[in-house]
Amino acid sequence: MPQHTLAKTVTIRGIGLHSGVESTLTLNPAPANSGIVFVRSDLPERPRFKALYSAVTDTRNCTCLGNAKGQVVSTVEHLMAALNISRIDNALIEVSNAELPIMDGSALPFWKALQEARTLVQDAPRKVLRVLRPVRFEDGKGASVELAPAAKFSLSFDIEFPSKVVGHQKFSGVVTPEVFASKIAPCRTFCEKYQVDYLKSVGLIKGGSLDNAVVLDGDAILNEGGFRVANECVNHKVIDALGDLYTAGMPVLGSFRASKSGHFHNNELLKRLFADTADYEIIEE
Ligand SMILES: [Zn+2]
Repeated sequence: MPQHTLAKTVTIRGIGLHSGVESTLTLNPAPANSGIVFVRSDLPERPRFKALYSAVTDTRNCTCLGNAKGQVVSTVEHLMAALNISRIDNALIEVSNAELPIMDGSALPFWKALQEARTLVQDAPRKVLRVLRPVRFEDGKGASVELAPAAKFSLSFDIEFPSKVVGHQKFSGVVTPEVFASKIAPCRTFCEKYQVDYLKSVGLIKGGSLDNAVVLDGDAILNEGGFRVANECVNHKVIDALGDLYTAGMPVLGSFRASKSGHFHNNELLKRLFADTADYEIIEE
């Protein structure tokens, strides 16, 4: 299987969740073996951030890449999930702000942009990270993540929320492009109204609204029309996991199991996996 990049450049515009400021995201083709690289096009020195677990500097509410100068590019995970499932190995992504546009809170706008760009076959073999031994991370507060050897990548995720409109939700299976496009990519990020009220009160999520998140108020959902698909909340967590796992720098061949976990846990799991070279091998797909 060869590597792939984008066949052409595509541009997306939208506001950032935290800043509320409009930013432009330009997805460009990139050479073989260059990986997924973000560039802050608004800064004079145009700093580059490789989309790697080791460059993740913040996992609160989103996955944020940073450098030693304290420069960041945040909320990369929904685009990373779309790149993962599109099997794009190399792309140069320019963003004109410290955060990617939140769009509608799902991965669908990114998925559609990548479909529009199409892919280009490159003259280099695709590398895959094969899990050789089970690796697990638990936070001691009920959340866990695990990668185990498997012949195919599969994913299972379960969440439990007090709100009756969410409750217990589970996803389990192989995420084909068809499954991703219809059941996963449209799923929006979700939160509780009291969290929104608090974050707004301290000057965060200036761009947050019912246009880019599912907002729950106790046992009610505030968005007109309710959920887009069944189990939207856990399926959104699948987007986050697919995006975070792609910061391995290549696709992961193994079975991923997660319970009540988030960006922090996904990043810890990759750090643990890479810490012991007996746990994995890098092979050509
Ligand atoms: Zn998310």
